[in-house]
Amino acid sequence: MDLAAVAMDEKCSRGRRWPEPMHPYRGEYARDRDRVIHSRAFRRLEAKTQVFTTRYSDHFRNRLTHTIEVAQIARTVAQALGLNTELAEALALVHDIGHPPFGHAGEMRLHELMRDFGDRFDHNLHALRIVEQFEQRYLDFPGLNLTFEVREGIVKHSRDYAPAELPELAEYQLDLRPPIEAQLMNAVDEIAYNSADLDDGFEARLLQIGMLREELPFFTDVYDEVDRSHPGGRTKLKIGETIKRLLDCLATDLIEQTRGRISASDAKNTDDIRRLPRRLVGFSTQVAKTNSELKRFLYRRLYDHPAIVEERDRSVNALEQLFRYYLAHLESLPKYYSELAAREAPHRVVCDYIAGMTDHFLLRQHRELVGHAAST
Ligand code: MG
Repeated sequence: MDLAAVAMDEKCSRGRRWPEPMHPYRGEYARDRDRVIHSRAFRRLEAKTQVFTTRYSDHFRNRLTHTIEVAQIARTVAQALGLNTELAEALALVHDIGHPPFGHAGEMRLHELMRDFGDRFDHNLHALRIVEQFEQRYLDFPGLNLTFEVREGIVKHSRDYAPAELPELAEYQLDLRPPIEAQLMNAVDEIAYNSADLDDGFEARLLQIGMLREELPFFTDVYDEVDRSHPGGRTKLKIGETIKRLLDCLATDLIEQTRGRISASDAKNTDDIRRLPRRLVGFSTQVAKTNSELKRFLYRRLYDHPAIVEERDRSVNALEQLFRYYLAHLESLPKYYSELAAREAPHRVVCDYIAGMTDHFLLRQHRELVGHAAST
């Protein structure tokens, strides 16, 4: 079966909110990719935590280098499946653009703070606001004026929302699945961070090969294989080779499984894919099990490691204190936001402002405003 038939064809795109003339040699999704790369929110990913803050080392992933790794895996998988690589790349590059400072812990704390107002914070929905509203780069429209499929992919890349949950997003037809390119994002994101976090975890000396021997047998099987072929090799390089093979195994399984499921689905085009009751992208049962064991291991041994938790707690507490400070002192927000807070719900304006901050900027603001308030 020709899988290219289910690839998103830009000729079938629902287009942009504000129609624009075609570019002489760049496709529509390639233009979206370029707009994302040139956005301020994309550049700020460089100073947002993935797992380790820069205090640990300059060698570790931040959210920007993670994003580049996701884009690379997305392109490879999309190409192997005959999908639209430009759409997949645009979606990968934009997938974390709505992340607040301090990773998932920052997102959770912001969500808890918003819940007190009967509201929410969700990085996918925030990403949509960034590309529709907050990025101001063009004379003729607010935001980046991305194609429908990229905006839809931002909303739907990690999960399906119930239509009743978000009536304001009705235009994205939440009861339908997104194209395969968007469905890929969650899986390639996981492949990227599971392998990268293992790598950084070893480099930070928080993970050791001994603990993997007991807790992740499939990892040690591969490691032992590498060790047998390179008995004199440096441990660090053998670990690197093991992680590389693991990444390859996850990506290969994803490609093969997804190819099989598309073929078995009888879907003939993107519209058929949208109407299917379930998403098609996924791992085989065996590899899904391996992947979730790896995830659980990383939580236990890395994300919940006291050294990581301590700094994370301090950081998200600073986020909370700054949120409360701004709410009580709206006049201390930059002019654009303090004016906005007079017209819109102040908690939403404060949330949007904080969510856009880099880790460093948030800590600096906290030091200047809250640190100052505490000492007077
Ligand atoms: Mg990600």
